[in-house]
Amino acid sequence: MIPLQDITVAKENSSPIYQPQPRFDLLRLPLLGRWLRWRWGRLLFQIPLLLLALLMIYDGFTGPKIAGQNVATVTAWVHYRGLVMLALLLVGNLFCMSCPFTLPRTVAHRLSGNGRRWPQALRNKWVAIAVLVLFFFLYEWLDLWASPWLTAWVIVGYFLAAFLLEAVFAESPFCKYVCPLGSFNFVSSTVSPFQITTRDAETCRTCPGKECVNGSPQALGCGTELFVPQIQSNMDCVFCLDCARACPYDNVALAARRPGEELTQGAWPRRWDMAFLVLVFAFAGVSNAFGMVPPFYALEQWLAARLHITNEGVLLLIIFGVINVLLPAGVGLGTAWLSRRLTRKREPLRVALSRYTPTVMPLAFSIWLAHYGFHFATGALAIIPVTQNFLLDHGLNWLGTAPTWSLAALLPGSWLLPLQVLIMLAGFGGSLMVADEISRRDFADRRTAMLSLLPWVLVLLSLAVAALVMFNLPMEMRGTIQLNG
Ligand code: SF4
Ligand code: SF4
Repeated sequence: MIPLQDITVAKENSSPIYQPQPRFDLLRLPLLGRWLRWRWGRLLFQIPLLLLALLMIYDGFTGPKIAGQNVATVTAWVHYRGLVMLALLLVGNLFCMSCPFTLPRTVAHRLSGNGRRWPQALRNKWVAIAVLVLFFFLYEWLDLWASPWLTAWVIVGYFLAAFLLEAVFAESPFCKYVCPLGSFNFVSSTVSPFQITTRDAETCRTCPGKECVNGSPQALGCGTELFVPQIQSNMDCVFCLDCARACPYDNVALAARRPGEELTQGAWPRRWDMAFLVLVFAFAGVSNAFGMVPPFYALEQWLAARLHITNEGVLLLIIFGVINVLLPAGVGLGTAWLSRRLTRKREPLRVALSRYTPTVMPLAFSIWLAHYGFHFATGALAIIPVTQNFLLDHGLNWLGTAPTWSLAALLPGSWLLPLQVLIMLAGFGGSLMVADEISRRDFADRRTAMLSLLPWVLVLLSLAVAALVMFNLPMEMRGTIQLNG
């Protein structure tokens, strides 16, 4: 059994448990619901992605060296990123649900037996933040998007890391505490419109075995050690539905909720690492777009000349260290301090910071969606010539036509900037609504409430303007063949 103190979703503040009412439950739909709850339901999502991952590794190591012609690079850097954002927007953490990296989990669990527990000191998001920041840095430094070979190694690395950590530890620490894709998806899914919840709270109160988290002879319990009656957030939920399969009372729902509803409910633990994860996610959204526009290269050259640094890795470390680490920390702490000062509220800075960090999420998500959506809209159809080319190279070109390399864009180019602006406006509006609701929740006096959120509105405005400026500049087309003209 899992020690209760390790169930990290347990409330750390005094507000009541928030769970959406399961008015619309995906698990109750006639065919889909049965499929999702079926013992092998997840496997049917994972196997196609496993085959695709193997194909990406194969083509990454043996196929064309040009990124825009290789299955590994086009699929990883154009399709995965665009589709994952759409899935998060429309449903939730579907990639983690279908994740092929966790497929060796059962074998690894057998190896681990009663394996050791993940160290208590690491049961937080600091490792995940460090790995996420490192991943963004390596992506720029090694030009991962331009190298099929390195992209293939990244995929191999994921399989190895997931397997090793699952084999050594008795739980699933890779997903919850390490994986950068998981961290990105967890934090993004806090705005998603579906969440795991209970159907009937009373059934859980009298449930003796708590199989949803402890497991049953028929099914594993929750690998990330979430306890269904206490789940208030999509954070750490990989949508595997093991809880639904293990619950002997069929008491788990995948319920529809207002997108981002958890952001206004005080659902997150008030921890430094949680707040910092959200801020890093937001600032990295801007820096990731910044790394693809001309001013970034101008800044790099200027820094190289001023600091007499010729090593690109060091230059990138400085630029992304400032934007992805120092700025989120400095801006977050400064804004929380100012907000607390304006309201004269006596509370720890950690609490003041945690109050408004959820407001950043809708905007941060919209920045990533607008950015990755742009690449997807400009490069999605490139998969057709890439597949033709792969078949041709392997003597399987049944269609008998040469690859049509001009095929790439899904939407007309003139639609993209207006669409990005619309997405950004929706995100900014969503963040303002969340901020307003939180201020009303925590401050009875309207004037104090407005003063408390004012510094955060300025941060939101600055992030939105910075992102819009990036989107308005010519952006590198990564992973897509560049045709002249
Ligand atoms: S979700 Fe099911 S297994 Fe978990 S506590 Fe409730 S009734 Fe028990
Ligand atoms: S078992 Fe349930 S709560 Fe745990 S990660 Fe899977 S879907 Fe989420």
